[in-house]
Amino acid sequence: MGVPVYYESIFRVVFNALRSDMTGGCTHIKTFFLELAPPVVCVRKIKQNPNYMDCREQVLLADYTTLRAGGLARYLFFVASEDDIVDALSCAEEKNIPIHILGGGSNTLFSDEGFTGVVVHIKNKGITFSHTDTGDVTCVAEAGEAWNDVVNSSVERGFYGIECLATIPGTVGGAIVQNIGAYGSEVKDVVSWVEVYDMKKKKTIRLEKGMCNFGYRDSLFKKEPNRYVVVRAALRFSHTVSERTLHLDIVKEMERVSNGVSGSRNIAEAVARVRARKLPDWKKIGTAGSFFKNPIVDDCTGRHVLEKYPDAVHTMLPDSRVKFAAGWLIDHVAGMRGVREGNVGTWEHQALVIVNEGRENSEEIQMFMEKVQQKVHDQTGIMLEPEVVIVK
Ligand SMILES: Cc1cc2nc3c(=O)[nH]c(=O)nc-3n(C[C@H](O)[C@H](O)[C@H](O)COP(=O)(O)OP(=O)(O)OC[C@H]3O[C@@H](n4cnc5c(N)ncnc54)[C@H](O)[C@@H]3O)c2cc1C
Repeated sequence: MGVPVYYESIFRVVFNALRSDMTGGCTHIKTFFLELAPPVVCVRKIKQNPNYMDCREQVLLADYTTLRAGGLARYLFFVASEDDIVDALSCAEEKNIPIHILGGGSNTLFSDEGFTGVVVHIKNKGITFSHTDTGDVTCVAEAGEAWNDVVNSSVERGFYGIECLATIPGTVGGAIVQNIGAYGSEVKDVVSWVEVYDMKKKKTIRLEKGMCNFGYRDSLFKKEPNRYVVVRAALRFSHTVSERTLHLDIVKEMERVSNGVSGSRNIAEAVARVRARKLPDWKKIGTAGSFFKNPIVDDCTGRHVLEKYPDAVHTMLPDSRVKFAAGWLIDHVAGMRGVREGNVGTWEHQALVIVNEGRENSEEIQMFMEKVQQKVHDQTGIMLEPEVVIVK
């Protein structure tokens, strides 16, 4: 079923006429097509013109998340530059429809109903390194870069800073928003500044690290999801290994394979091997990694839980709150490690990880999530909070 040829020609004429008239007002021409053209023609026209971003309609979001769930997006815009970001946001604003920013989709769960607005898929690329006055290295990475490519580029050059964050899926933008962490490192440890497009101020601004409000899997950008689009970030690396002690699992793995030799590349490779043994391969099975955050509770709740479960894996925080290992609670309190219900279950090697063997079954995943939460809550009074961003 093709679009009639004459119909296409009309659009080509109008498109070219408007195009030649416009110097920078591409938002309007896009809106014109979004409103006037039937979806297929609109998308094809935008795609055919190299000056325009790739824009698609009625796209299955399950194909863009590692959990492999989620219905149709009304629009999916692939933004490869700052200009594209501005254009995509303007389109949504002009049509008065909601926006969702999507990186690699490795920590996102869309609903089966999909998303009725514009999903802005961040694809801007680029990684540059430069030396600082103090002898360290600054790496500026665009938000759409794959996080692990930044790790590889840095360890190949022998730089230290993010080697323990090797093989975490997703983009640089997602890593900043979620303040990713593993084996004692967090991305905030190396951030110098973050450049964001501020939807309120309608301009790109630079925020120094102190202004980003980083916390445990948290940041300013997560707290205000409809305000900031991360465009790029500057990360600071060093030529020498940090004082911080390496996680025991990584030390053991390095001793096993490389006799303890500890270049940043060796560390990253050890991390990759340990993770491959512990975590499901997201290229083969639906998952978002750790589904829940480790809960942090006040000292009274903490004591109560520890009286009932003295073996519970936990950390006493300096402010006397207690951080419990969510995986331990799901495993030992809820008894749900390796449990499957339909297509969804917890990973047998790590109860914190939910896996999905279905497709487009967001509701099934959310029901399983609620069951895990309920079981832990019934026994401990602790309500596990998802680390995964659930887009309603
Ligand atoms: C197998 C597996 C293992 C994992 N292991 C870890 C781990 O060890 N440690 C860890 O911390 N996480 C881990 N994760 C979770 C996930 O990989 C990270 O949270 C990742 O940083 C998410 O990046 P993303 O680009 O996929 O983000 P998405 O899932 O696309 O988005 C996550 C959030 O960030 C927002 N966002 C994304 N990009 C931008 C942007 N440019 N501007 C503004 N907002 C944006 C989205 O709107 C959303 O709110 C794992 C996931 C999987 C599948």
